[in-house]
Amino acid sequence: MTDDRNEARAARSRELWTAARQLLPGGVSSPVRAFKAVGGTPRFIDRAKGPYVTDVDGIRYVDYVAAWGPAILGHAHPAVVEAIQEQAGLGTAYGTPTEVELALAERIVAAFPSIERVRFVNSGTEATMSALRLARAFTRRDKIVKFAGCYHGHADSLLVEAGSGVLTLGLPGSPGVTAGAAADTWVLPYNDEAAVEELFARHGEEIAAVIVEPIAGNMGVVPASRDFLQALRRLTREAGALLIFDEVITGFRVAYGGAQTLLGIEPDLTCLGKIIGGGLPVGAYGGRAEIMELLAPAGPVYQAGTLSGNPLAMRAGLATLEVLAQPGVYERLERQAARLAEGLEAEAKAQGIPYCVQRVGSMWTGFFHPGPLRNLDDVKASDIDFYARYFHGMLREGVYLPPSAFEAAFVSLAHTDHEIAFTVEAHARALRRARQAAGA
Ligand SMILES: *Cc1c(COP(=O)(O)O)cnc(C)c1O
Repeated sequence: MTDDRNEARAARSRELWTAARQLLPGGVSSPVRAFKAVGGTPRFIDRAKGPYVTDVDGIRYVDYVAAWGPAILGHAHPAVVEAIQEQAGLGTAYGTPTEVELALAERIVAAFPSIERVRFVNSGTEATMSALRLARAFTRRDKIVKFAGCYHGHADSLLVEAGSGVLTLGLPGSPGVTAGAAADTWVLPYNDEAAVEELFARHGEEIAAVIVEPIAGNMGVVPASRDFLQALRRLTREAGALLIFDEVITGFRVAYGGAQTLLGIEPDLTCLGKIIGGGLPVGAYGGRAEIMELLAPAGPVYQAGTLSGNPLAMRAGLATLEVLAQPGVYERLERQAARLAEGLEAEAKAQGIPYCVQRVGSMWTGFFHPGPLRNLDDVKASDIDFYARYFHGMLREGVYLPPSAFEAAFVSLAHTDHEIAFTVEAHARALRRARQAAGA
């Protein structure tokens, strides 16, 4: 699967990888980084600038992982670097309210019509986990509905048929999740209104919340149909359940006001993360005041955090959103991503390879599948062995794609026509090499 010449160039990464596995479980701090799905040695990155990451062997790659979503401006954007440097000199955490968390909250509330109050946490996982607790308290019900292939972080009740790393590693869920937590979670196929309709007809009064990625990114990019999301909105409202949009990826990615603004559908609660921290650890959840005011200290639902709203992350997030609020930003992201997708698809077509790019704005996945892919079953039918060979071909060409066929890739504001053209040419060669290796 791997490429020997490619591996030989990664001498320092290989040394570090050997050491890492003696110190960190699986050599990493988060599973998909380990290249398990594609084989070979994970590259240890020690520098990043604009659209590029550079590894410890000095090899530079055009980056489409974007730190798994946050790096929408490109890496080390001057405005973000300056904000972090300035704040670091003023202290990195006080454990008090700060003016900067207020400024970020104002921006988020202004961007999302459905958010009147927002609570900052330290990760997307904390945001979804806390939003569920709040939904259960508000509705006084226990059951949660999620969709196969959607990933909402690693809280127990959400690690059932989750996408992302769980999917990449072929795990059905996770040992260590209690039967109780799993039993409170009902999992349905994505984009299947009839299944949701049926569940609500039978159990609507037990359901606290439906949580969904309005544009799935964690089984690769699979957009929800408008009808599906509208059905979720209607059914939850009729049953007195809450609709939670997990916009940890899509918030400030597909539009300034996230997928809900793009699609014109308002959830009751929204989870955010990734981009709003500008590359520092952050998460947030928000919604109507009547729900959010149940949170302590305003109300009885407990949720806290020593470093929550810490000024370093707030400053980095604020600097990022200030750039994103400038005119023409999302048009540029759309144009560059469209150019890339067209180039990739045209080349695959020319070589007769079943391939399609699924994309919303600057989040995209190239599937080795004729498409369209609407749910997890479709995604699993894509050619993942071919992806692994192709991935290594791209790496050799100097393009860093997600090390799994089931992840979203991202174009940043720093990707210029040059990087796009470079990527399409690399893709043409990597496809050819992957076909030869497949004996096609
Ligand atoms: C990344 C992600 C999460 C989890 O966020 P972490 O910061 O990794 O805990 C939750 N939901 C979605 C949709 C995500 O993409």
